[in-house]
Amino acid sequence: MVDIENIPITDNHVHVDSRRGYGAEKVAKIFKSAGGKTLILLNKPSFKGDLTTPMDILIRDIETIRKNVEGVEVYGLVGVHPCEITTMLERGKSLDCIKEKVIDALNYARKLVEEHHFLVGIGEVGRPHFKVSEDIWRTSNEILLYSMEIARDIGCALQIHGESASEEQFREFRDMARSVNLNPEKVIKHHCGDNVLEGEKYRIFPSIIASKPVIEAAKKSLRFVMETDYIDDLRRPGAVLGIKTVPRRTRKLLEMGIIDEEGAYRIHKENIEKLYNIELK
Ligand SMILES: [Zn+2]
Repeated sequence: MVDIENIPITDNHVHVDSRRGYGAEKVAKIFKSAGGKTLILLNKPSFKGDLTTPMDILIRDIETIRKNVEGVEVYGLVGVHPCEITTMLERGKSLDCIKEKVIDALNYARKLVEEHHFLVGIGEVGRPHFKVSEDIWRTSNEILLYSMEIARDIGCALQIHGESASEEQFREFRDMARSVNLNPEKVIKHHCGDNVLEGEKYRIFPSIIASKPVIEAAKKSLRFVMETDYIDDLRRPGAVLGIKTVPRRTRKLLEMGIIDEEGAYRIHKENIEKLYNIELK
């Protein structure tokens, strides 16, 4: 029987929100109670045009978990959510002015990653998941390229939020990374379905939603990480997967014989360590 207790199960994309949800400490404790070991947290969008405060809040949340929740390791990524652009446009700002603001915020994110050992990447950054005008699309791509340059300069990972995940996006993000000399192996496509083969082909790293697609993915390749994209909003229960899903799904994969213990270590420990240059217990 596999000793699930000891597998360092990692959720690669989690948001916490102490105003609207359980908050950092409680989320970490629930995750731990389900057998989770490592959380990768990302700042939430502010939706108010205040781009750096969510990064500062994330740092406090990580420090809270580190101090108060034994047995959970926590790391974070800071970035400017691509949807902030449309929010700021709705508030009457010009696209040029927005771009400048986002670049400033990304420079701040860079400084934070350089200063805090538990910040291991830039994200989420990318493009809105809904249809936008040509100029918003172009600006989003320019900002994504700038984010990639930061990741290249400081040698960290980058998580992309995008409109979808298909071969076309994998190829495009690989080409964008290469154009600024960023190793595509450091570029994670968040919110993937069963995209392991595209990942192997284009070297972009898939972070797969821990629902059904992960079963199909694991049959083909172990080059992926798992996530819930938990948003910690008590007014929107069921909008995303619960924080216990990654441990539960992993147990299921083991029970079904789709992965063995070694496979679980690959997904949750080795892949994570390589992506973020960290060492997990
Ligand atoms: Zn997210």
